[in-house]
Amino acid sequence: MRRPAVVVVGAGPAGLFAAERLAAAGAAVTVYDRMPSPARKLLLAGRGGLNLTHSEPRRAFLERYPALPPPMAQALDAYPPAALRDWAEGLGEPTFVGTSGRVFPRAFKASPLVRAWLARLGGLGVSLVMRHRLVGIGPGPVLRFDGPGGRAEVACDAALLALGGASWPRMGSDGGWTTLLEGQGVAVAPLRPANMGVEIAWTADFATRFAGQPLKAVTIALGYRTVRGEAMITAEGLEGGAIYALSATIREALATNGGARLAIDLKPDLALDAVAARLAGARPKDSLSATLKKRLGLAPQAVALLRETERGGMPREPLALANRIKAARLAVSGVRPLDRAISTAGGVRFAALGDGFELERLPGVFVAGEMLDWEAPTGGYLLQATFATAAAAATGIAARLGLPMVRDPAPPW
Ligand SMILES: Cc1cc2nc3c(=O)[nH]c(=O)nc-3n(C[C@H](O)[C@H](O)[C@H](O)COP(=O)(O)OP(=O)(O)OC[C@H]3O[C@@H](n4cnc5c(N)ncnc54)[C@H](O)[C@@H]3O)c2cc1C
Repeated sequence: MRRPAVVVVGAGPAGLFAAERLAAAGAAVTVYDRMPSPARKLLLAGRGGLNLTHSEPRRAFLERYPALPPPMAQALDAYPPAALRDWAEGLGEPTFVGTSGRVFPRAFKASPLVRAWLARLGGLGVSLVMRHRLVGIGPGPVLRFDGPGGRAEVACDAALLALGGASWPRMGSDGGWTTLLEGQGVAVAPLRPANMGVEIAWTADFATRFAGQPLKAVTIALGYRTVRGEAMITAEGLEGGAIYALSATIREALATNGGARLAIDLKPDLALDAVAARLAGARPKDSLSATLKKRLGLAPQAVALLRETERGGMPREPLALANRIKAARLAVSGVRPLDRAISTAGGVRFAALGDGFELERLPGVFVAGEMLDWEAPTGGYLLQATFATAAAAATGIAARLGLPMVRDPAPPW
């Protein structure tokens, strides 16, 4: 009997995971990608530690996705963090829970996992066709690629698009698919940066001296949202975990109000009056910098940041100064561009999908991963949603093709 032919476009985690599941279910799967080798962004993600998922309970986890669309909530329930951890372990990479509940593979980086994964895919008969860029798509489904040998037209029984967002385009996902799908009447929310740095007009001296220095254990607030963590000073402004966690709020504030003013608490574990009391006990002959260092343990970059926010001069009166330390005000002038962001907001709208993540305008064509219209902070939520939507789309394809999909026993959260 002929095995149904599935074409997956995009050899990132979403495409490869759907390919694995469909090949295991009996499909003949070919994965196309425009880059010379697969999973480039996943390998990049693993450089600073591959944060696969997060260990927090279901409710807290799901709340990380703003305006979580119901199909995605269902996908996450069907393929929760425990399933992803089991999968990694099955590839020889048991996971561990790091500080703040984040989950990493044993090797910390991505390369051993990717190596084992590609070997498994080879064993399942999945073919990888690299250096082929998707340039056209039509009903059938029929896909057109530009490759080293020229234009190729490929017909299949079902196709999965897993083309990623548009951050770090050097890794392959450049968002070029938006015009392709919009041309077919598929609704796409504009792609915007997510988990990106912000721009702040530092003085030249501050930027030169302190770019690359961390602000550790601070809280950063905008409006009603407060985030605790670390921020990194850059020549252009700030980046890092605490900024990324606030980045969607900052982006929306800039779009709505044309500006955003952050309040940074440089001493979040000490109450305002305790900070003021420590300052009041300073030795009169100490300079302000020496007082801030000795009495509050502020790092040189934190002291310099305080001076940046008080360019007219800092108050000497303890309570006024304590107020500034507890809420140093920084005006954000913009956000870093999409190509420098960790991830992408916007993408194929959920309203454009039918059951099983199939495009209503292109029957037989399914979508998964970061190219869908969702966003989440860093912390493992991006890859968890990538894998979960890929599992859901693979199930949708299997249902269309009448393939027996092995169901996960839905491990608990
Ligand atoms: C620096 C960095 C660190 C990160 N760290 C983490 C982390 O620790 N934890 C976490 O959860 N997430 C992390 N992420 C995010 C995570 O890597 C992505 O969310 C994930 O890779 C998305 O998977 P995807 O398969 O949807 O898309 P991608 O991984 O982007 O894959 C899409 C693939 O499609 C291909 N493609 C695109 N257009 C075409 C076309 N027209 N024709 C053919 N092929 C095409 C691309 O070449 C690419 O291979 C990080 C991202 C970055 C940039």
